[in-house]
Amino acid sequence: MREPTAPPLARGAIDRDGDARSDDDFAAHFDADPAARILALHRGRALLAQQVDGSPPALRFLRPAESPEPQLRCSRGRLGVSTEGGQAAGTPIEARVYDADAAELIEPERARWIALRPAVPVLGDPDAALFTQALAIANWHESSPFCPRCGSSTSVVQAGWARQCDREDTLLFPRTDPAVIVLITDDDDRVLLGSNALWEQNRFSLLAGFVEPGESLEAAVVREIGEETKLPVDRVEYAASQPWPFPASLMLGFTARVASGTPPAAAAPDGVEILQLRWFTREALTEALAEIALPGETSIARWMLERWYGGPIDDPVPWTTT
Ligand SMILES: [Zn+2]
Repeated sequence: MREPTAPPLARGAIDRDGDARSDDDFAAHFDADPAARILALHRGRALLAQQVDGSPPALRFLRPAESPEPQLRCSRGRLGVSTEGGQAAGTPIEARVYDADAAELIEPERARWIALRPAVPVLGDPDAALFTQALAIANWHESSPFCPRCGSSTSVVQAGWARQCDREDTLLFPRTDPAVIVLITDDDDRVLLGSNALWEQNRFSLLAGFVEPGESLEAAVVREIGEETKLPVDRVEYAASQPWPFPASLMLGFTARVASGTPPAAAAPDGVEILQLRWFTREALTEALAEIALPGETSIARWMLERWYGGPIDDPVPWTTT
């Protein structure tokens, strides 16, 4: 079991290689570099290497000469450390997005194209980090074909780190949507978990919501928890963050306590987003695992919950879809 020193999508060191962004001939230089490798993406999935010798799962990287025509090219920088699959530190990496025909040419076996959520728990840190970042930037490019100021088409510039309006030359940079996710405890160190209307009824997790324009993170925590549980909280403390590229979030993890003088039993679900709220001691959570499911192991919610729990939670019903 991996030591939970950082949230699962916040692992791995990538040198984002700022110099590449100002190289107007980056694409040609990349293609001519024998060390260069490509992380292939198709419909949000990356390529798993064929492991024949019992070695750990790893991503399969293409050489430029192996690449069919992509829909998008985007430099990811250089590997900060070597990967499980044998790519050396310093290897220049480009993410390329392929259409169905090109993906079929690269790897016709569909099972070898894997989504991020099931991939992260089995991949090494550099592969997991690269896949996370590649998916995040690909999602942004896909959602940004037009200029938000004038509606004209936009084109990829700066080796894929930005886009430019074709009419006004305005530069557009990737956006990230901040969301707070909160582990709420009471004075007895019980944790409050909620069941979201979008989930199956027996799924319980931490409460979360998007930060609104003009709002501080701390204010967002207090507002979201107030809206979803009717509870006032204080002692808001930052815990950790991780990207959540589904499609473009940054999850900011906080802990908070029910405000002094408020009975924990006053927690009341809003009935719209949150249908049920339950307080758990560690023992009660262990016992409840037979009837409830917890957040998936790729999520920061799971990481924060296990930090409170004191170690890995042995979950008989893994929640792999989140
Ligand atoms: Zn424009």
